[in-house]
Amino acid sequence: MRILVVEDEPRILSFVARGLDSEGYVVDGAPDGAIALRRLEDVAYDLVVLDLLLPRVDGLTVLRELARRGVETAVIVLSARGDLPTKLRGFELGACDYIVKPFALDELLARVRVQLRRRDELRSDASVLRVGRLELSVTRRQARLGELAVDLSEREFRLLHHLAVHAGEVLSRERLLADVWGYHFDPGSNVVDVCIRRLRKKLGANAPIATIRHAGYRLDAA
Ligand code: CA
Repeated sequence: MRILVVEDEPRILSFVARGLDSEGYVVDGAPDGAIALRRLEDVAYDLVVLDLLLPRVDGLTVLRELARRGVETAVIVLSARGDLPTKLRGFELGACDYIVKPFALDELLARVRVQLRRRDELRSDASVLRVGRLELSVTRRQARLGELAVDLSEREFRLLHHLAVHAGEVLSRERLLADVWGYHFDPGSNVVDVCIRRLRKKLGANAPIATIRHAGYRLDAA
């Protein structure tokens, strides 16, 4: 877990950095907004702790720029400015939390944990694709159909995932060969059919894969 602390006051920067470091995070510091934006271009941080009153580029501008770039890194504002309009402006620009200085280090650490946990939950959700009763876990390379959980080979998983992403559409063998196997020619074998047969066998009688005669295969969302 890598955290960027943007803070122009060296004393506060080192205090926060030491606290985060003791929790096992990798910490980088940036003394102004311009350096922060450059760092954020180069490194995919898990979280940013952002002061608002900064030299060169202020914190609100940093938030605005991150939103413009589509960066989704969680940002906790840590500022001496505790007035409501500034707070609201911060949230509006995408900050996920706001702590007013002076602050307790333990509170900052607790809030950092909350944000990182929330992000992990969102991520693990995004790695599961659900179509009807079928669930595909990208991280586990596993399919679940109701109570049944089956491990899939890399190829089986990619084929089923591709059908699931295009659920309800008929995908031809040629298209599956191109999209899943990367073949842009007819390999003269029935690799697609063989792989589908294996998937059906693993998923059992309720496998939601339909054969569309002379057209291809379709994953049904039932
Ligand atoms: Ca400052």
